[in-house]
Amino acid sequence: MTEQSFSIIAYLVAAIFFILALKGLSSPTSARQGNLFGMIGMTIAVITTLIIGENLIALLILIPIALGGAIGFVAAKKVQMTKMPELVALMHSFVGLAAVLIALAAVLNPIEVHTTVQRIELFIGAFIGAITFTASVIAFGKLSGKFGAKALVFKGQHLLNLILAILMIGFGAIYFQNESILAFIVMVIFALILGVLLIVPIGGADMPVVVSMLNSYSGWAAAGIGFTLNNSVLIIAGACVGSSGAILSYIMCKAMNRSIVSVLLGGFGSDVAEDLADKGEKNYKSGSVDDVAFLMSNADSVIIVPGYGLAVARAQHALQELTVKLVEKGITVKYAIHPVAGRMPGHMNVLLAEADVPYEQVVEMEDVNSEFPQTDVVLVIGANDVVNPAAKTPGSPIYGMPILEAQKAKMIIVNKRSMAPGYAGLDNDLFYMDKTMMLFGDAKNVVEELVKTIE
Ligand code: NDP
Repeated sequence: MTEQSFSIIAYLVAAIFFILALKGLSSPTSARQGNLFGMIGMTIAVITTLIIGENLIALLILIPIALGGAIGFVAAKKVQMTKMPELVALMHSFVGLAAVLIALAAVLNPIEVHTTVQRIELFIGAFIGAITFTASVIAFGKLSGKFGAKALVFKGQHLLNLILAILMIGFGAIYFQNESILAFIVMVIFALILGVLLIVPIGGADMPVVVSMLNSYSGWAAAGIGFTLNNSVLIIAGACVGSSGAILSYIMCKAMNRSIVSVLLGGFGSDVAEDLADKGEKNYKSGSVDDVAFLMSNADSVIIVPGYGLAVARAQHALQELTVKLVEKGITVKYAIHPVAGRMPGHMNVLLAEADVPYEQVVEMEDVNSEFPQTDVVLVIGANDVVNPAAKTPGSPIYGMPILEAQKAKMIIVNKRSMAPGYAGLDNDLFYMDKTMMLFGDAKNVVEELVKTIE
C-alpha cells in the first residue's frame, strides 16, 4: 500500500468516527460513547499525520501535544459544570488563533508559492480564524462575568463594523493580487478588531447562540486551514464542527424566537439598566421551608422548573430525593425543561440524568406549557430568565422569547438566594405575584431541609 492510499483510508476511518461522535452527542444517553468515538477518530488522525509527514522533528510535535494534552486533561477534570460554556468559548479562541498562526506561517514561508485558490483559502481561513479568536475571548469574558454580560451599544456601531469589514476585504484583495505580506497582516488586524466589535453589543440572553455560532466559525476556520495544508481530515472535521454549530445556532434562535440577524446585530439586553431602575418599590411574599413543605405535601400535581442556580448549588441529587418522597405520597411530579435553562444547551438534562431522574418525568417546554394552569404547585428552583413573563410584554428587551409559563399555575414557589436578577439582568414580575412565595436560600440546603421536613 502506498503512503497516499494509506492516508486516504486512515483519514476516512477517522472521519467516520467523527460522524459517529456527532451522532452519539445528540442524546444524553449516548453522549459518553460519542465522546469516545471522537477521541478514537482524533487519535487515528494524529497518528496518520505523524506517519505521512515529511521531515518532521518529532520532539517539536510530541512535546506540545503532551503539554496541551496535560493542560486540557487538568482543565476538564477541574472545571465545574457551570463554567463549561466559558471553557468552550476559550477553546474556540484557540482554534481561531491556530488558524491565524498556520495561515501566517504559510504566507511567511519564502519557499512556498501560492496558487490563486490557495491565496483565497489562506485569506478566508485567516480572517475567520482572527474573528473567532477575539470574539471568543470576549465571549469568554462575558460568560465568566469578567467583562459583564451587558450589551455595549454605541451610535454608528454597525457603520463602523461595515467600514472595518470593507477594509479587511480590501487588504485581503491586495494580498490576493500581489502576495503582499504587509497587506495580509493588516487584514488580520482588522479581522481581530472586528471580532471584538461584533460581540460587545450582544447581551447576556443571546450568549448561548453566540457560543454555538463561534463553535461554527471555529469549524470553518479549521476547514479553511485544512485546504491550506491539503489535509482532508482537517477539512472534514472542520466542516462537521462548522455545520453542526450552524444548525445548533439555528435551533437555539428558534427556541428563543430570535432571528440570527437580530442576534448578530446585537443590542439585546442593552436597556437592562432602565429596567432595573423601577425594581425597588414592589412587594413580594416570602415563606419558610415548613410553609413550602406543607403546600407541596398537600398538592396533587407539582412541576419543578430547574435553572442555573440548581447547577451552581449542585442540588440535583437532593431534588431527586425530594421527588421520590413526593411521588411516594401519590403526587404527580414533572420537571419542565427550557432549552436555554442553565449555561449551555442541554445543561438541565445532563444534571437531571446525573441524578438518575427518570426520563419520563422530564418534559420539554412545548409539551409542558399547556399543563401549568392545571398544576397545583410550581417549584422554580434557581431559575429566573426562563420563567420571566416580561417576555410576553411588547417593548421588553426579551419580548418574544418563549418561556415556561409558570405564572399560570395555581401556586408558585421560587427558590433563590435573593431578589437579584438572572443572567439577562432583568427584573422578574413572577416574583411579585400574589400567588408567588419566595423561598430564600441556597438551593441544595433548602431542598435538603424540604426532604427532611416532608419526611
Ligand atoms: P438565570 O441565570 O436567569 O437565573 C438563575 C438564578 O439562580 C439567579 O437569579 C440566582 O438568583 C439563582 N441562583 C444562583 N445561585 C443559586 C443557588 N446556589 N441557590 C439558589 N438559587 C441560586 O438562569 P435560568 O436558568 O433561568 O436562565 C438561563 C439564562 O442563561 C438565560 O438568560 C440564558 O439565555 C442564559 N444562557 C444560557 C446558556 C445555555 O446555553 N443554556 C448559555 C449562556 C447563557 P440569586 O443570585 O438571587 O440566588
